[in-house]
Amino acid sequence: MAAGRCVMLAAMTEQTETRKQRAARRAGEFPPPPEPLPAPVADSHTHLDITVGEYGTPPGGTGDGDPVAAAITVAAGVGVDRLVQVGVDVESSRWGADVADRHPAVLATVALHPNEAPRLADLDEALREIEALAGRDRVRGVGETGMDFFRTGADGRAAQEESFRAHVAVAKRYGKALVIHDRDAHADVLRILDDEGAPDTVVMHCFSGDADFARECVRRGHLLSFAGTVTFGSAAALREAAAVTPPEQMLVETDAPYLTPMPHRGRPNASYLIPLTVRFLAETTGVDLDELCAAISTNSERAFGPWR
Ligand SMILES: [Zn+2]
Ligand SMILES: [Zn+2]
Repeated sequence: MAAGRCVMLAAMTEQTETRKQRAARRAGEFPPPPEPLPAPVADSHTHLDITVGEYGTPPGGTGDGDPVAAAITVAAGVGVDRLVQVGVDVESSRWGADVADRHPAVLATVALHPNEAPRLADLDEALREIEALAGRDRVRGVGETGMDFFRTGADGRAAQEESFRAHVAVAKRYGKALVIHDRDAHADVLRILDDEGAPDTVVMHCFSGDADFARECVRRGHLLSFAGTVTFGSAAALREAAAVTPPEQMLVETDAPYLTPMPHRGRPNASYLIPLTVRFLAETTGVDLDELCAAISTNSERAFGPWR
C-alpha cells in the first residue's frame, strides 16, 4: 500500500509539473496575431534585437531564416508597416543603425539607456560613439535617454543626469527627435529639459504620467507615446492621460519584448501586437479608429520620418 501510494504521489507530482511546465512555455510564446488595423501605423519604440534574441520569430514569420526580417513582415501583415528600433547602449545602437540601413521599414534611434549610463566605466567615450551614430541618415532619434528613479538609486543619479543632458545636446545638434524614458521622474525630466532647452521634437516614450502631466507635455508640444500599459487593469490614471491627449500628439509603441497589451500581458511582445493597443486607445479616447490610425501614422512620420 505504501508503495502504491508512492506511485500515486509520483504520478500526481509529474502531472502537476507538466502543467506548470506547459504554462511556463506558453508564457514564453508569442500570442497569435490580432485582427489587422484598417490603416497602417508605425510602432514608435521597439527593441527588435532583444525580442528576436530572446523569443525568436513571431508567429507566421519566415523571413528566409532572418528573424528580424520575419518580425517586420509579420507586423506589416496586420498594418504595422513601419517601426523605430531603439538603442540602449553603444552596441545595440550600432546594430539598430545597421538594420535601418538594410530595411526600409525600420528607422533607428541611438542612446545610452538611463539605467545603463551610470554603470559605464567611460561615459564620455560611450557618448562620443553615440554622437557619431546620431549623424547617420537613418538614425532619426536620440534615445532612449532620460531619468529612471525606479531602477537607479541615488548613487547613480549624477551620471544619469549628465548622460541625459549630453543626449539632449546631441539631439539638438543633429536635429533629431529626443526619445525620453521617464520612470518615476516626471518633474526632473521637465526641469532638465527646461534647463537645456528642449529640441523641436520630444517623444515621451511609454508615457506613464497622469492627466495633469499629460496636459503639461501636450502644452509643451511633446508627443506622448502610449504602450501596452494603457490596457492594463490598474492603469486608470494612464487612460485619463490618453483621454486628454489630442490625436495630433499621440504615438503608439510596443517597447517590445516588454509590456505586452491585454489580453496577453506576460507573454512576449512584438510590433505585430500594436493593433491591440491602437484599438484600445480608440475606445478609451472615443476617437474613430481610422482617424486615430491616420493621426498616429502622420505623427510618426513627423517625428522620425520619412521611412521611404
Ligand atoms: Zn524605456
Ligand atoms: Zn525601450
